[in-house]
Formats: sequence, structure tokens, C-alpha cells
Amino acid sequence: MLERAATGGRITPDEALLLYTDAPLHALGETADAVRKRRYPDDVATYIIDRNINYTNVCVTACKFCAFYRAPGHSEGWTHPQEEILRRCAEAVDLGATQIMLQGGHSPELGMEWYEQTFAAIKREQPTLTLHSLGASEVVHIARTSGLDFGTVIARLRDAGLDSFAGAGAEILVDRPRTAIAPLKEKGAVWLDVMETAHGLGMESTATFMMGTGETAAERIEHLRMIRDVQDRTGGFRSFIPWTYQPENNHLKGRTQATSLEYLRMVAVARLFFDNVNHLQGSWLTTGKDIGQLTLHFGADDLGSVMLEENVVSSAGARHRSNRTELIDLIRGAGRIPAQRDTLYRHLVVHRDPADDPVDARVHSHFSSTLTGRTLPLAQPAVAS
Ligand code: SF4
Repeated sequence: MLERAATGGRITPDEALLLYTDAPLHALGETADAVRKRRYPDDVATYIIDRNINYTNVCVTACKFCAFYRAPGHSEGWTHPQEEILRRCAEAVDLGATQIMLQGGHSPELGMEWYEQTFAAIKREQPTLTLHSLGASEVVHIARTSGLDFGTVIARLRDAGLDSFAGAGAEILVDRPRTAIAPLKEKGAVWLDVMETAHGLGMESTATFMMGTGETAAERIEHLRMIRDVQDRTGGFRSFIPWTYQPENNHLKGRTQATSLEYLRMVAVARLFFDNVNHLQGSWLTTGKDIGQLTLHFGADDLGSVMLEENVVSSAGARHRSNRTELIDLIRGAGRIPAQRDTLYRHLVVHRDPADDPVDARVHSHFSSTLTGRTLPLAQPAVAS
């Protein structure tokens, strides 16, 4: 099976499960790395500078794994005014960000017009920023709030300036574990239906996987199968991004996280299974920088973002921080050539010579230390750079 996968053959879900549970770790990683190298013989591994802007923590969906949301009417609920969102966008541009990821709760106060006005204002003030934001769950929420169908919501978001959808909200798409952790969220089949509709309207996206909330190995592979089947029809998923559930401050507290070895095995199997998805992102935010670096030897070709701001996953316990210099070092230390990319994975700066590496103490990850959504001023680095 590994030989077939290494030479570009397709593996079945049953084979993927067997590889995930039983393949020798090093052979699995070596094969995934061979597939990565066949796709990207230049040995470049990428990162992006972006900012997550969480516009509201008010949410009616009440996912059990979420430490970020507050129910409508809660005294700790907040929604940023448009001026604050625009200020954060301007700050991100000043720090070299090329992408904004707007993510937030499902607030009953925010309908179609709020999103249209916000996206249009950002594009008007910051035309260079790519809006890679929201996700299928937000489309479902807006459709419900505003009485529209999915296609209309997607088309109106696109026309207002949204460039592509983030893969957030996928969590795990399989019914049993999804219902256990997010009973009020749309079914996995609906999440995929929205993505397929978006791809059909020219809006590409990514796909994610939050592993470690109690799902079985077979359910993990089934999540991959569901995404691959849609990708066979649309080709609209640019990348697959697995990450591990963070267990603090939520109603699932006490459940086991996926281990680092399980995470690495998942990254490798994803590279082998997704013969139709171009990019595979390793997570350092939830697994730590060492494991993030190791993913580059298990099939990943991208380490994601420096993340100038993040509030959601950090609320649930992710405490890893990084900065641009460190991400470049991680990539170089893994024997790859670092490159800053844009949302479309085009290389903006290839760091071939370490002597030319950028040293910019301002470009570091910047996470909320509270559940209020307020972050420290970016001018005051929260971590050593
Ligand atoms: S994960 Fe998103 S949809 Fe679920 S409760 Fe948190 S903010 Fe709401």
C-alpha cells in the first residue's frame, strides 16, 4: 500500500485506516514525505502572515468543546464595532499581513447586511488584504438569520469582497462524534453541501479537522473520506489542515487529546489519502513547535500562519506562540527552504539565504490571555521575538 501511495496510486478508506493504525511510523512518514516531494520537488515549505479577527463571541450554537463563546445576553458577550475591525485590519497590513481571517460566533444580531457592510468596508480601506474568512457554519447561520438560501448568502458574501472560505467549523464531520461535541451545529453533510455550493460559485476554501474529542480511528478516516469525495467533484479545497482539540475551559473538559504520534500519523495518512488536495498544513499552534516542525517530515508542505491575533483556540488552552523568525528557523531546521506565501499559496518571498532572513520583532503571534476578546496592543510584544 505504501509503495502504491508513494507512486501516486489512490488508497481506499479501508487501506487508510489500516495504515493509520498499523503502519510502522517511520515508513509511514517516509512515504508521506516522498509524496510531498513528488508534488513539491523544490523543497519549499511555506508560511503566511495573517490575523484572525474574532468579531463577536456571542453564539447560539453552544458547541461543547468551545471555550470562546458566550450565550446571547451574557454579561461577557461582546461584538466589535466596525471601526475596531477596520483598525485591526490596518494594524495587520502595517505588520505585513496579506490575509485576514474573520471568525466569530453565531450571533442572532448579525445578519446578511452586517457581513456585507463589514467586508465591503474592509475592501474599501484595505484593498490589498485577502479576506479568507467565515466558513460553512457561518453561511448556515446567516441563511437562517436572514431567511436566504446558501447559494444567495455565498454569492452576496463574494460580491461584498469575501475571497475564500476558511475550513473552520468542520470539526469532525461524522455524525456520531459531531453530535456528541456540537449537537446544535449543522450536520457534516450540510457543512459539505455548503462547501460544494461555494466551490460551484467560484469560492474556494480549505478543510480542517479537529481531532481528539473522543472519536474512533475509523471515524477519523471517515472524516477524510467525506472531504475527498466532495473534492473529487469540485476540486475547491486548497488545503487540508488537521489540528488537535484543546481541552480547557469548556464542557468536554477531561477528554483525552489526540497524542502527538496520532497527530503525526494523521498528517501522513492525509498526505497519502488526499491525492486530490494540493496542500497539507501542519499545526504548531495546538501541538507545539517541535511537532509542527516534525509534520514537515510527515507530508506537510506548510506551517500556516504567524497569527498576529488569535482568541478562539487559545481560550481553550493553546499557549504556543511563535514569530516570523522562528517559523523560518523551524522550516530551515527541517531541511526545507522557507517561503512566505499568500492565500493562493503563491510564494511572495523565498528565504534562500539565512543571512537575508527578516528580523522583525513586531511580527509575532499575539493571543488573547483572557476570554474577553481584548488583546494587548501589538506595539507591545507579548512574547520574546
Ligand atoms: S465553535 Fe463557533 S459555533 Fe461553536 S460555540 Fe464556539 S463560536 Fe459558536
